[in-house]
Amino acid sequence: MKKLNVKNSSEEFTAGKLVCVGRNYAEHIKELGHERPEFPLIFLKPASVIVYSGDKVIHPEYSEELHYESELVLLIGKDVKNGNASEAEDAIAGYGLGLDMTLRDLQRNLSKKGDPWTLSKVFDTSAVLSDFVLKKDHKLTMKEVISLKVNGQLKQNSALEMMIFPPVEIVKYISGVMMLEKGDLIFTGTPAGVGKVVPGDKIEAEISGIGHLKTEIA
Ligand code: MG
Repeated sequence: MKKLNVKNSSEEFTAGKLVCVGRNYAEHIKELGHERPEFPLIFLKPASVIVYSGDKVIHPEYSEELHYESELVLLIGKDVKNGNASEAEDAIAGYGLGLDMTLRDLQRNLSKKGDPWTLSKVFDTSAVLSDFVLKKDHKLTMKEVISLKVNGQLKQNSALEMMIFPPVEIVKYISGVMMLEKGDLIFTGTPAGVGKVVPGDKIEAEISGIGHLKTEIA
């Protein structure tokens, strides 16, 4: 069981499923040479892959291309199924920052064959989480900036408002496909600037007013 660190909360949150959105920033779609999606592209990670800020990401030996992807993460606070916009908004309890660590070489090969992305997205330590803030402590404006540095060098830097599908639309869409439950986490996609990291690299990421995290590749 993976507990979530939620600031100023007496309520306990245990991580459920991680529902991740791919290709949600136009500039990132361009850098990987994909088409803009008509509806959110989603995939899952199990909660067992979660590590926290300060923990290490273990580079799988079967990949030559481990990439970071910094993302706004939505914390689901109550069950929602087939939610309308206001129910979707209501189901979001708070916000955090996460890294959706990705094996880009495997993803490319799997995509080419039309196979599921699972092996490229799911491996132990493939999701790094910051602490979460509740909505009462942070009102999301989408003007917040998400940024990531590798060894002190700025690699990703974007306003959240550059997203194609905003948080409420994502939750509404996913809840129409599968029940979302308290503790589920929605990774909302990464902006441009993704890249490779190798053992020894240090990553620091931040979303202004929401959270920050650091990790090292081992
Ligand atoms: Mg991602």
